[in-house]
Amino acid sequence: LSLAASIASVRFRIAAAARSAGRDPAAITLIAVSKTHPVEAVLAARAVGIADFGENRVQEASGKFAALRRTAPSLRLHLIGPLQTNKVRQAVSLADALHSLDRDRLAEALHESRARGGPCPDCFIQVNVGDEPQKAGIALADADRFIDACRTRWALPVVGLMCIPPVAGDPRPHFARLRDLAGRHGLPGLSMGMTQDFEAAIAEGATHVRIGSAIFGSRA
Ligand SMILES: *Cc1c(COP(=O)(O)O)cnc(C)c1O
Repeated sequence: LSLAASIASVRFRIAAAARSAGRDPAAITLIAVSKTHPVEAVLAARAVGIADFGENRVQEASGKFAALRRTAPSLRLHLIGPLQTNKVRQAVSLADALHSLDRDRLAEALHESRARGGPCPDCFIQVNVGDEPQKAGIALADADRFIDACRTRWALPVVGLMCIPPVAGDPRPHFARLRDLAGRHGLPGLSMGMTQDFEAAIAEGATHVRIGSAIFGSRA
């Protein structure tokens, strides 16, 4: 498939999943995850109407997007990968949204950067919904405390929650758990759903789906 056809197909599937869940397709933001793909792929996706892009490494994102963001103000860059505190400065100057706020030290670093007058992206708190030891995200058992602390103690612009469910098994109970947690905290955003599971995520309330391979092809 051409890039345009892949994007059209993904959009069609998003709309179908939204409608069968009784939801408005316009309430779902498609984030095209361009990691590992060259800037030409980003430009081609932009040409067919993609406005939101996802990258998981600050360095790579900076190389591809720093210039582009000055010439294309409507473009939105989402950082979706683990963020080291020593990259916060670069990250906040580049990204519109951060989907991987997952620990006290990072929240504190964002707070300090903001206190010094730096910009701050919209934050999604990443929750380790499957309680997997190898995975990023705040532990489920610690999530209530962390969400409250991010919003009050560190006064960060938290817009929602994010998760990556375990690869094996049905992702839906994990998506549902994230939705319930967000609901309890009155958070509107739910960043969940990737190439393998975005339709299930939409059925459970996803507002932001992060899709790479179904758009750009498989990664090397
Ligand atoms: C790579 C990545 C995606 C996209 O994955 P695909 O399976 O290619 O759609 C989504 N979210 C995160 C956090 C990623 O790192």
